[in-house]
Amino acid sequence: MADKPTYEELEQRVQNLEQGKIECKRVENELRISKKLLRDVMDMVPAFICAKDLDGRFILANKKLTDFYGTTVEEITGVLHADICENKKELQGMLAADREVINGEKPKHIPEETMKNPDGSITVLETYKIPFTAYDDPAVLIVSTDITERKRAEEERGKLEAQFQGAQKLESVGRLAGGVAHDLNNLLAPILGYGEMLLQDFDRNDTRKASVEQIVEAGMRARDIVRQLLAFSRKQALEFKAVDLNKVLTRFEKLLRRTIREDIAIRFMPASQVPFIRGDIGQLEQVIMNLAVNAQDAMPEGGTLTFDTFLTELGEDYAATHEGVKSGAYVMLGVSDTGYGMGAETCEHLFEPFFSTKGEHGTGLGLATVYGIVKQHGGNIWVYSEIGKGTTFKIYLPVSEETGAPSESDSMGPPDLQGSETILIVEDNAQVRNLSHAILKRQGYKVLVAENGKEALTVLNQHEGPLHLILTDVVMPKMDGKALFDQISGYNPDVKVLYMSGYTNDVIAHRGVLDEGMNFIQKPCSVQALAAKVREVLDG
Ligand code: ADP
Ligand code: MG
Repeated sequence: MADKPTYEELEQRVQNLEQGKIECKRVENELRISKKLLRDVMDMVPAFICAKDLDGRFILANKKLTDFYGTTVEEITGVLHADICENKKELQGMLAADREVINGEKPKHIPEETMKNPDGSITVLETYKIPFTAYDDPAVLIVSTDITERKRAEEERGKLEAQFQGAQKLESVGRLAGGVAHDLNNLLAPILGYGEMLLQDFDRNDTRKASVEQIVEAGMRARDIVRQLLAFSRKQALEFKAVDLNKVLTRFEKLLRRTIREDIAIRFMPASQVPFIRGDIGQLEQVIMNLAVNAQDAMPEGGTLTFDTFLTELGEDYAATHEGVKSGAYVMLGVSDTGYGMGAETCEHLFEPFFSTKGEHGTGLGLATVYGIVKQHGGNIWVYSEIGKGTTFKIYLPVSEETGAPSESDSMGPPDLQGSETILIVEDNAQVRNLSHAILKRQGYKVLVAENGKEALTVLNQHEGPLHLILTDVVMPKMDGKALFDQISGYNPDVKVLYMSGYTNDVIAHRGVLDEGMNFIQKPCSVQALAAKVREVLDG
């Protein structure tokens, strides 16, 4: 038996006990603060934080994570990850990585993993996992940061940079093409001019005539290419006026219908009203036609071609993420097809001159021309396409300050330019021929067509009824326009003639191919120009 403690000893013990209690309280307090601090920090950090055991059971989790799974911090402890995660494929990957960390006792960094949100959107995470050994059972501590926004910004920057480089490239190719076209244009003037003069000097039966005709014709074709290159390099003289894009489109509708194959449905979906833009109608028609023809090529089995317009405000944000775009009000013209579409590689080179995937059948100048015209209008063009999923071109043209009456009311097919006379079109270029045919038919004329002088005479032989006007190419192989006219007017003295040429007005007149004062129209002509000129000649 131990001795009874003395009073002093007892007092000492009581004191120690008191001391221990205080110490205990202090530690308890510290622990409480630590726990609270840890909890607050875990919930405050913009990351998913949790610890799991080898079976994937939550040991702890922060609020961001429990919010994501629609549960609470208290409830989630002891719950299997597999029981609350609906995306099993995602889960498998995560658990495998967890096990790897626990079993290997080595930390793991996953620079990028994706997680599907309940609303279907995707969150991109950067995740760190470390072995966590403080518990009895081995566990893994996981911290995942949401880097979705950073990824998006990076992608945006990459896109913008690609756009910038694309624009830069087209800019320099444009300078090159423009320079070449300009010089070629000058060289073509004497080639064509002297060629035409020689043609005039030759006797009708001179065997050398055919050779020179070939030279002149090749020159004309070169001139056509040069003209398109000039359009691409924005070196064309444009006739700007206030234009209602909806009107341009609706008036072009019938014409398109006649030019585009029957097995392609054409839908027009203009906005109920769009403000004026500043544009050159002839050039805008060229844009529509080029895009339509490409769409047609992309739908060999038929399909739907859709045109739509709407008014849109491109904000600072949009301007900041799209190369070369100024913020402001724009009229959007969309041209969509249900054709075979194109891959990224094609999309990248689309607007470059001479880029074509059509081999012999393509010139690769259609979209280059479109690009130049749109840019010269202060606009932008974007393409959206995927292989097998069709293509959409979107053209944004800045809204014009002008609010007054549009000056384009007289641009196309007004009633006073109509007629019912019979016109014979002689033109070897199928596109020009079909277009002229469509324009004149729309104006109410009876139209006969032929590819060359010889065919023209055959067509006329079979035609019963009057002929009022011949619309003919100037230079054609075998029989030129003038010879054809001379022959026909021999037995039809009242017939009138209107010459078309890709060659400029002055040069032809002055080189004596056509006599001064003869009716002449330059190719490619706008709808308005042709309708007006034809009426003028018929009435004159
Ligand atoms: P071309 O029509 O003479 O080939 P373009 O400049 O008009 O030249 O077009 C260039 C290329 O762009 C085409 O060869 C084609 O590969 C592609 N392309 C243009 N428009 C479309 C479209 N609507 N669908 C699919 N590919 C297209
Ligand atoms: Mg084309």
